[in-house]
Amino acid sequence: MTAKLAIAEAASPPPALERRLNAAATACEREGETLTPLRRAVLALVLQARRPLTAYQLLEQLRTARRAAPPTIYRALDFLLARRLVHRIERLGAFVACAEPEHEHALVQFLICRQCDAVVELDDHDVGEAVAAAARSAGFRLEHAVIEVDGLCAACAAGSCRG
Ligand SMILES: [Zn+2]
Ligand SMILES: [Zn+2]
Repeated sequence: MTAKLAIAEAASPPPALERRLNAAATACEREGETLTPLRRAVLALVLQARRPLTAYQLLEQLRTARRAAPPTIYRALDFLLARRLVHRIERLGAFVACAEPEHEHALVQFLICRQCDAVVELDDHDVGEAVAAAARSAGFRLEHAVIEVDGLCAACAAGSCRG
C-alpha cells in the first residue's frame, strides 16, 4: 500500500500547525524530553515551509524573531532529526517536516522534484520489504535506509508548477 504522506508544498494552516506542534511536544514528553521554545520555533518553520529549508534559511528566518546563534539552531535540528520530527534531504542539504512522526521509518522514501524542490515523503511498506529482502539475500541486516528519488512532480511534469 502506498501512503502519500506529505507534500511539503501544502503548508499547514494555523490550527493544524498548532495541533502538530502539540503532538510533537507530547511525543517528546513521552521520551522524557522537552520541545523547548527554540525547537518548537524551528519545527514550526519547517512545518509551514512550502519547500525544504536549509539550516541557513532557518537561521535567517529565526534571526528576525529572536537572536538564535548557529550552534543552537544546529542543536535544535539535531534534536528534531533524532526524534524524526524532521528529515534531512541529503540531495538538497535541507530539512522537511516528517509527514507522520509515528510511522516506522526503517526505510524512508522521498520523491524530490528536480525543478521546484517539492518533496513528498512516502511510506510504502512493499518498497521497504523489497529492499530488506534484497539485503537479507546478500547476508546484510538492514537497519535503516533512505531512498531519495529524483524526478518531476505532477505539477512540473504538467508544466503548471507555480514554484
Ligand atoms: Zn517521516
Ligand atoms: Zn515540481
